[in-house]
Amino acid sequence: MRSDPSEYELVAPGSLRAVVSLLASEPGAWLPIAGGTDLMVLYAAGKLSARKLVSIWNLPELRAIEVLPGEIRIGAGCTYTDLRRNDIVAREFPLLASAAAWTGGIANQNRGTLGGNIINASPAADSLPALLVYGATLVLVSARG
Ligand SMILES: Cc1cc2nc3c(=O)[nH]c(=O)nc-3n(C[C@H](O)[C@H](O)[C@H](O)COP(=O)(O)OP(=O)(O)OC[C@H]3O[C@@H](n4cnc5c(N)ncnc54)[C@H](O)[C@@H]3O)c2cc1C
Repeated sequence: MRSDPSEYELVAPGSLRAVVSLLASEPGAWLPIAGGTDLMVLYAAGKLSARKLVSIWNLPELRAIEVLPGEIRIGAGCTYTDLRRNDIVAREFPLLASAAAWTGGIANQNRGTLGGNIINASPAADSLPALLVYGATLVLVSARG
């Protein structure tokens, strides 16, 4: 590890509402951390410049896969394992299920989230082509709505 943990602050407010209000209270100061599979690589390499991290891991508001008439809503906090194990995703969106199964190893699939993959925006990201092909719509939230 090339980072000193004492230089970092991590808070876990426990609800999406509390997270967005913290983000709004100090714009640009706090960085969300979900599964941490991208951010912890930066941390271990001594390259994580953000010093204040707010955990959004396992927030119930972000961890659901809802089935609605004609569409499904996948929470940004759903992991690859959540996607792999969902019958509707497997049946109706097989490319997304395959992308989830191809991403990293089992440990990575248990922590890495769909939202993190989108925001990390790597040109090699596996879920992004599937979301593009299926015409996915992103729903963004802030303290103002
Ligand atoms: C060993 C290993 C193997 C990997 N293999 C693959 C692979 O095969 N294919 C692939 O595509 N990726 C791979 N990855 C990359 C990584 O696992 C994915 O990008 C993962 O989806 C990131 O999600 P996370 O929740 O861990 O993100 P984090 O590391 O928590 O966050 C990543 C970024 O996204 C932001 N963020 C996260 N969630 C949200 C949100 N809901 N709203 C706003 N911002 C958010 C964070 O602030 C941060 O900037 C691999 C990583 C590792 C370490």
